[in-house]
Amino acid sequence: MVRTRFAPSPTGFLHIGGARTALFSWAYARRHGGQFILRIEDTDVARSTPEAVQAIIDGMNWLGLAHDEGPFYQMQRMDRYKAVIQQMLAAGTAYHCYTTPEELDRMREEQRARGLKPRYDGTWRPEPGKTLPTPPAGAQPVVRFRNPLDGVVAWDDLVKGRIEIANAELDDLVIARADGTPTYNFCVVVDDWEMGITHVIRGDDHVNNTPRQINILQALGAQVPLYAHLSMILGDDGQKLSKRHGAVSVMQYFDDGYLPEAVLNYLARLGWSHGDAEIFSMAQFCEWFDLDHITPSAAQFNTEKLNWLNAHYLKQTDNERLAALVRPRLEARGVTVGETPSLAAIAGLYKERVATLNELADAAEVFYIGIHPAAELLAQHLSPEAVPALADFIAGLRDVAWEAPAIGALIKETVSRHGLKMPKLAMPLRVLLTGQAQTPSVDAVVALFPRETALARLQRGMPD
Ligand code: GLU
Repeated sequence: MVRTRFAPSPTGFLHIGGARTALFSWAYARRHGGQFILRIEDTDVARSTPEAVQAIIDGMNWLGLAHDEGPFYQMQRMDRYKAVIQQMLAAGTAYHCYTTPEELDRMREEQRARGLKPRYDGTWRPEPGKTLPTPPAGAQPVVRFRNPLDGVVAWDDLVKGRIEIANAELDDLVIARADGTPTYNFCVVVDDWEMGITHVIRGDDHVNNTPRQINILQALGAQVPLYAHLSMILGDDGQKLSKRHGAVSVMQYFDDGYLPEAVLNYLARLGWSHGDAEIFSMAQFCEWFDLDHITPSAAQFNTEKLNWLNAHYLKQTDNERLAALVRPRLEARGVTVGETPSLAAIAGLYKERVATLNELADAAEVFYIGIHPAAELLAQHLSPEAVPALADFIAGLRDVAWEAPAIGALIKETVSRHGLKMPKLAMPLRVLLTGQAQTPSVDAVVALFPRETALARLQRGMPD
């Protein structure tokens, strides 16, 4: 049974890298009929906030990455960690260390001065036949893991290949602080073990923790999970993705008018591929996803491609859903969405031309609010030769059948009667009706308005 987990530290929003890790962990569990677990690593109490927990959950909900178990909060599992520490102390795989922080500093300085790698000197580490110093009275010890002294710790990373670290490189890790609280790597180990995690899929910023975690798991007699460390995501400019790049929070993409399916599809291809497939559903992704096709090199963010995917998914989305997604965006701008024209009809007409829901809202807004076409647009398009044709068209509009084909026929008739080219009439119509020079097919745009509104907007633009 495959069991994966997503284990964010709630110190900020769900960022793009975290969302991709969550997506891959989720998809891997789905692919294998396994379980996906959400674990909140909130032991850094100074930096963890309930708002950040909520932001992570909101982000996952928006993307539809549903967990099967959890969320488990590490702060609620302190007793478990402490119990395992006691167990390790009893088994001799961990020990009390009374070296004070000051002594450690001094130790490290001396080592550095002698050109050595700074490390704990093992004073309190029990060895067969070694007599340990007497603990200083009243001192609170830390607990250290008794790391193997020699040999190597190795794993076949499912993304990076085989990785081997000499144990001589690893210090005896502090697993509990002097106040008894367990440290980060230790909590991860206990959780991965007790939650029966089979595949740890996470960012490669954790690759240095893995040998330590494996050693502790082995000391506990736990099954060591398989590890897949995902390479980092770079910004459009090839630099490490950061706030400088604008939207790094997943919910920022919501705000900016992206569809979750576009973001998911985009993230799925960020470091993973299936032949040259670019557009696919999450159901398809969950059938295809494997760890063999994850690239070990860094993935580069490409906003243009995300926009292209979003435009694709917007076109595929039915008009009613688009209306439901755009309505709150308009309302947030203070726009009252009236009955006519129907927002779904507007969405149907404009969805071919927009890349985001916000662009769709921009297009829809002009149908519901008073518009004031810019003077320069009017000057450019309301030419003297257009005015009589426009007057004629307005007259015809009063009793034409209110549907795009009939309105289109009226436009054609009018321009030919006045010996004009189509844009001569179409452009002022666009500008007077929407305030914009670019619109979908002008007959369809006219037909969206109630007849009286169209007449009023056109009339208003006519010279007195
Ligand atoms: N809590 C860690 C983070 O947010 C992830 C730990 C893990 O996946 O092992 O970076």
